[in-house]
Amino acid sequence: VIKKILIVGGGPAGLMTALCLSQHSVEITVIEKQSWPLDKVCGEGIMPKGYDLLRKYGVSKQIQALSSRPFTGITYIDSSVAEGHFFSGPGYVVRRTELSRALYESLKGKTNVTLIPTTELVSLYQDPTSVQVTLRALSNQHIICEHRYDLIIGCDGINSKVRKLADLEGPNLRKQNRIGARVHYQIAPWTTQVEVYWKDGIECYVAPVASDCVEFVFGWNQDKIKIKQGRCPELEKKLFSYFPELESKILGHHRLSKIEARGGFARSAKFPISGRVLLIGDANVFLDPITGEGLSMAFEQAHILSQSFANIMSKEGQRSFIDQIQSLKARYINMTNLALFLCEHPLIRRIAIRFLATFPLIFQHILELNMGTRSLCDIYRSQKGISFFKTEFFEVK
Ligand SMILES: Cc1cc2nc3c(=O)[nH]c(=O)nc-3n(C[C@H](O)[C@H](O)[C@H](O)COP(=O)(O)OP(=O)(O)OC[C@H]3O[C@@H](n4cnc5c(N)ncnc54)[C@H](O)[C@@H]3O)c2cc1C
Repeated sequence: VIKKILIVGGGPAGLMTALCLSQHSVEITVIEKQSWPLDKVCGEGIMPKGYDLLRKYGVSKQIQALSSRPFTGITYIDSSVAEGHFFSGPGYVVRRTELSRALYESLKGKTNVTLIPTTELVSLYQDPTSVQVTLRALSNQHIICEHRYDLIIGCDGINSKVRKLADLEGPNLRKQNRIGARVHYQIAPWTTQVEVYWKDGIECYVAPVASDCVEFVFGWNQDKIKIKQGRCPELEKKLFSYFPELESKILGHHRLSKIEARGGFARSAKFPISGRVLLIGDANVFLDPITGEGLSMAFEQAHILSQSFANIMSKEGQRSFIDQIQSLKARYINMTNLALFLCEHPLIRRIAIRFLATFPLIFQHILELNMGTRSLCDIYRSQKGISFFKTEFFEVK
């Protein structure tokens, strides 16, 4: 029986996992290296499926309208413009600090959850009955305790220490390194969509965060603009110079956050669970920000864990948990690889975007496929299926 759980990492995956599991009769401790509310380089877009889970667990009530905004779909902008609208209601762009605060507030009333900031995991050792961990307080570098837990959940991000210590490190998912950067500007949004501007080897996502705030997120291959030790002189100027149409939009507007970059994506675990150690969020898998799925993936994994929790220590329970997580992961990796393929093949990308611009319903379906809210079979079988293909392919004027 699992009574005591340690969650390592209090990012969105860690806090959401604590929230989902707080419904069970277990004692949960969350340790986090930094202090809440946390910020992080991120596109801040939460897909409809991810936001539905925030709604289901009551977090959406805590999110303030001043730091969040619904978006209706994704627009791809290259030599042509393709607009895809979600079938399944809007997604939300939520400032990372606001998301962190809302998750933290949702956990405050839970008597079985303890949140400990500025504390890190140093080591772990598991035997068949428990896991022993060593924790360090970062305020004074003292080892604060050596504790035993029934289950450790690693939610400690891309470079997960839990993954390494539990020998769950999987193969690198990609050879070429990509980098992401973000900056916020005080501008009234000009669209209700998240826009993706594609240029060769670099893209910019424009996310409307609030009535007076727009976030610009850049993704590029390392060889396009090199970053050394997290630094690059005049990075923001270089990035915007690839997008003159956006450069003119920020002209004369106030910058709300300094540009920050982050690289070294594409990490994955062999398995999401090994004995009494389990991984959720980026610690389990992260390939690239390009599909804007990282947060929703983390929330879905936390939800699956909560639903499988009663049997998680049995062989069949673990098998079923692994199957569900691996199929989620496979969908995410396939869709992200498809988007990265378009990044790297400009001609095919232009043809694809022109196609999606001509057949917006297909774009809608691809967005739903990406979220897993529809499968190819669902689309084919759907009532509209036949007429959809007829209209799309044969009756377009
Ligand atoms: C440029 C960029 C744009 C993105 N855009 C989007 C987007 O638009 N939509 C989307 O859904 N996703 C996006 N993502 C992905 C998203 O940011 C991640 O998927 C998400 O942050 C995963 O949450 P997490 O809690 O797993 O990891 P993290 O947010 O990295 O949190 C991990 C936490 O663990 C803590 N920690 C680490 N090690 C230890 C330790 N030893 N002890 C204690 N604590 C520890 C860290 O301090 C951190 O707070 C983007 C990512 C990037 C880089």
